Order: sequence, then structure tokens, then C-alpha cells
Amino acid sequence: MSRHAKLLIATNNAGKLREYADLLGDLPVQLTTPRQEGIELEVEESGTTFAENALLKARAYCAASRLPTLADDSGLEVDALGGAPGVFSARYAGNNATDRQRYEKLLAELRGVPPAERTARFRCVIALVMPDGTEEITEGECEGVIIDTPRGEHGFGYDPVFYMPALGKTMAELPPVLKNRVSHRARALMRMKPVLQALLERS
Ligand code: IMP
Repeated sequence: MSRHAKLLIATNNAGKLREYADLLGDLPVQLTTPRQEGIELEVEESGTTFAENALLKARAYCAASRLPTLADDSGLEVDALGGAPGVFSARYAGNNATDRQRYEKLLAELRGVPPAERTARFRCVIALVMPDGTEEITEGECEGVIIDTPRGEHGFGYDPVFYMPALGKTMAELPPVLKNRVSHRARALMRMKPVLQALLERS
């Protein structure tokens, strides 16, 4: 594998990029971003599953860059809401809503639901698409419950209301280095790493 081989991380989200850089930093490959490659794409997330959306993004960015490309799609599934917001997590309270408006809508939907029935999970699917058409996906989950009162200042999205009983903390109470050990995205990425390594060595 060439030390100058590039791997495109198909996001401009600084938080996600940091996490990818942390976990893939020891691979002999140069991580790059759409912005660094001068690529501007609006990929419509029209799939009905995280896997479909992750693949849509990875395929589009791989076609535009001709580079091995990783893309992820993630969201929150709440059992008492039949798995909602799921793939609509980012758009749950409308397109221009803030994170706070999104989790407040979630809390309103869950009003009156007893603690034992507020189970939920973050789910992340990562898709790898190679210029020769090879496609791989891995998945990571993180289990928790939705609490009524937001706690913590770290993270983003639904983190302040996502409580992990085993840790006694919400996701937003975990400093980034700890979130990166337990999060759905970190788990999906750790599973992708050996797959990626093998494919890059072959290419
Ligand atoms: P996307 O994968 O960037 O499309 O993110 C989907 C949405 O799911 C985000 O906008 C957040 O609302 C939510 N989400 C995904 N990952 C996390 C997380 O780690 N913490 C909190 N919310 C998340």
C-alpha cells in the first residue's frame, strides 16, 4: 500500500472528521475531505435505511473523486416510537431546526412514557466504496434510554437526553475521547478498519 494513497472521508462535519482521524490515524493512508478535494455535492438521502443512505453518499463521492471513500449515516431509534426518528433523525423537527428543538420534540412525543419503556439506540452504518466498485458496510450500535431532563455539554444532536445506564451518564456528559470509545460511530469504524486495511493493501 502506498503511503501516499488517499482515503476520502465523505463529510465536512468537523466532529465526525476528528473521530475518523483518531481511529484511522495509524493507517498508512492520507485522509482527505470533500472540501480538500474541491468536491461539492448535495446527495439526497432518499434511502429508507441507514445502509442505503450511507451507500448513496459513498458511491456519489467515490464517483466524483475516484478515491476509496468512506461515508456514514446515523441516527436514533426509540422503541416506544416504533424506531423513530431513525433515518429522519436530522430532519425530525424540520430542515432548519436546532439540536435542541429536535430533542425537545422527542421529549414531547415521549411525555408520559414510563422510564422502563424509554429504551433507544444510536445506530451508525459506514459504507466503503472503492473505485473498482467494491462495496463494504459495517454497523455499530449504542444502547441507552431517553431521559426527560437534558444533561451535559459535550457532543451534539440527541446526546443530552441519551442516558447510558452502564456508565451512569448521558452521551453529552462524556468527554469526546470517551464518547469515541463507546459510540455507535466508533464501533462501526472499528469494524470497518480491518476491512479497509485489507482492501487498501490489495489496491
Ligand atoms: P447524519 O449521520 O449526519 O445524517 O446524522 C443524523 C442525525 O442523527 C444527526 O443530525 C443527529 O441528530 C443524530 N445523531 C447521529 N449521531 C449522533 C450522535 O453521536 N449523537 C447525537 N445525535 C446523533
